[in-house]
Amino acid sequence: MKTDEPTVGRRVLLRTAVFLGIAAAASGLLGEEEAADPAGSAPGPGRAAGGAGAPGAPAPNGRGAPANTYRLSPMAADTPARYRRAMPPVRTRPILDLSGAPGDLAVGSRMVLTFDDGPDPRYTPAILDTLARYGVRAMFFVCGEMATDNRDLIRRMADEGHVIGNHTWTHPLIPKLTRPDLASEIGRTSEVVQQATGEAPRWFRAPYGAWNRAAFEIGAELGMEPMAWTVDSLDWTEPGTTTIVSRVLKGAAPGVIVLSHDAGGNRTQSVQALGSYLPQLLARGYRMTLPSLRPH
Ligand SMILES: [Zn+2]
Repeated sequence: MKTDEPTVGRRVLLRTAVFLGIAAAASGLLGEEEAADPAGSAPGPGRAAGGAGAPGAPAPNGRGAPANTYRLSPMAADTPARYRRAMPPVRTRPILDLSGAPGDLAVGSRMVLTFDDGPDPRYTPAILDTLARYGVRAMFFVCGEMATDNRDLIRRMADEGHVIGNHTWTHPLIPKLTRPDLASEIGRTSEVVQQATGEAPRWFRAPYGAWNRAAFEIGAELGMEPMAWTVDSLDWTEPGTTTIVSRVLKGAAPGVIVLSHDAGGNRTQSVQALGSYLPQLLARGYRMTLPSLRPH
């Protein structure tokens, strides 16, 4: 959304964001994140090793899953009433458009590749090379502390048509932050991306998928839409290249958003896996696409 949009537009966005937050919580996302990766909140050298990555949402990897499953999980019956009242009464604005134009043969075969935690000069260039080789564009949710030291890679991403999202500055566990600290984490990251590319991010993704209300609100105030994922490659656990490839291929379905990492640890397997599953996905007829923000 444009930053000069009237307040009412922001209200709609905020309500949508709240809805997304509930959906994430209802799907067990938050609980799993915190339970599965306590190292993420540990003090020490930032996001290195265990701090990176996101053991994320259970992958709705059933084939034929509707395109928007990542966005709107069914409301849980135990959703607090006060949040239910904050819901838009009828609809939430579709924030992603993966449906394609009518008559487009590719409808229903689109997927989005996302890479988090970078950029890292050891791995990101190889990922960009592979994407370029196949003419594919992807999303990179970057951390400010990585971006500020690798602005050339940020610029390369933008130059090659990829979408850069905001993934906070230091990859913290958001619910443990004060609101001012969170605002700084997000705001500084957007600033670095804007300085490097001339354009601020339009998308935000919480580390570990651990969202809270403040994250949605601050993201919205900075003109960003929240984005989760639906298929977690779990590449950050370094399970072996073939395992990563297998997870992505098994999870492939129309509208799927794949989570991988180009930083935060040794991502050699992630790089190698991409070189294997990407041509296989393309051979199966999938098209890698980018989400578009629908006007409203
Ligand atoms: Zn991350």
